[in-house]
Amino acid sequence: MHIQNQQNTKIVATVGPACSSRENLERLISAGVDIFRLNFSHGNHAGHKEVLDRILSLNAEHGTHVGILADLQGPKLRVGKVQEGGIPLEPGDEILFVLEECIGDKEKVFMNYEHFAKDVEVGERVLCDDGKLVFEVLETDKLGKVKLKTIYGGILQSNKGVNLPDTNITLPALTKKDRTDLEFILTLPVNWIALSFVRTADEVKELRQIIESKGHRAKIISKIEKPQAVKNIKSIIKASNAIMVARGDLGVEVPMEQVPTIQKDIIRRCIQRARPVIVATQMMESMMTNPSPSRAEITDVANAVLDGTDAVMLSGETSVGKHPVETVQAMNKIIYEAEQHYQLKDRRPKADKKSNTYHSDVVCISAAEMSDKIGAKAICGITVSGYTAFKVSSYRPKGKICIFSSSQTMLKTLNLVWGVRCFHYDKFTTTDGTITDTITILKEKEIVKQGDAVLNTGSMPIEKRFTTNMLKITVVE
Ligand code: PGA
Ligand code: MN
Repeated sequence: MHIQNQQNTKIVATVGPACSSRENLERLISAGVDIFRLNFSHGNHAGHKEVLDRILSLNAEHGTHVGILADLQGPKLRVGKVQEGGIPLEPGDEILFVLEECIGDKEKVFMNYEHFAKDVEVGERVLCDDGKLVFEVLETDKLGKVKLKTIYGGILQSNKGVNLPDTNITLPALTKKDRTDLEFILTLPVNWIALSFVRTADEVKELRQIIESKGHRAKIISKIEKPQAVKNIKSIIKASNAIMVARGDLGVEVPMEQVPTIQKDIIRRCIQRARPVIVATQMMESMMTNPSPSRAEITDVANAVLDGTDAVMLSGETSVGKHPVETVQAMNKIIYEAEQHYQLKDRRPKADKKSNTYHSDVVCISAAEMSDKIGAKAICGITVSGYTAFKVSSYRPKGKICIFSSSQTMLKTLNLVWGVRCFHYDKFTTTDGTITDTITILKEKEIVKQGDAVLNTGSMPIEKRFTTNMLKITVVE
């Protein structure tokens, strides 16, 4: 299989009926997909498992390390089924949102959120269908009926999402459905688990506890799509392994014009903390139907790259769109071009003296810094925990970040991280032997050639399995 030029910025693609066959998944990998997202808002367990098995089998066949992200739906609020053709609503129209299931009409609509009437207050806004329809709460009986006044009208269709940006929602971040999905997910070798509508670091910690209680190694992505998450961003980043700027719901929950600056702020913070960050939603939206992207989309993807994001994500474009392969190809080209014009120097992290990993941080950051200084072609790291990969990558060095691990699962996890190239290596030999081996592998893969400088980070003495404490320059023979 020919794989498109590997860029530093990674591509996450959501799987759905448009791309879930083995052949299509293979074409997407070849076009440049690094991570596949299984979206648990859609599909069933058997279907997700089939896709996962296909991805694992493609990895085994091609020696690739494409990772898998399981995305939990979280407390996504929805209206129920409504009359055929939808409900036309004009500004000023009043409508009831109720707890009893019914086919919605001009009088009343079912809403899937048990405590809706209890949690909302008079005067709060209720947004439907990505904010296309806006209502204001006129009355609530605090039991099961809420009367709304239409502010911005339109046609309310079945099962559309509801956002309550003003309301203190008492639903937990992990709903009943999420817990059932999670139980299933934790029987599979997924690399990342995404938590939707995160509000606090404690919610992330709770998910981590469940993952660890099953002895699973999956890492956590917190999706930032609530105003409370933006407010608590510092502690959420700290508690998470990665972050997603989930612009779809975020742009409804906060004033839409704030999304671009929130995106830039989150990316900057994530780089400082060495947490991978994904920019998601509507990046190539028009390619759901058109064979090429709009100029605004091209610029959006390029700007995310220039902001320094680790990854860009496709949702409907690959899951249900008409041109999944062409979308990934176009995205890959845009990334390639933008990366020729990087200026990420002002965003580089410094090692934090107060951190209990201070010495290792200094070695990793110095390796990246030194590689730029001497023009090293590659920075090699061996990792069990992934730590070296996250840290070296956060500097966004020019040299290729080549990460070796004996764990195939860890390599797939690290495939999300900016610039990281993954290599399987399971020999346990001397430090000198390891350095020779890694450079030989890179020579074979034509990543380095005779005369190139290569940096190796490592830990000595090797049998003590300390964290990274060594840095060496080698000129390839
Ligand atoms: P979703 O998350 O596709 O699961 O809603 C992404 C977003 O909200 O942008
Ligand atoms: Mn969302």
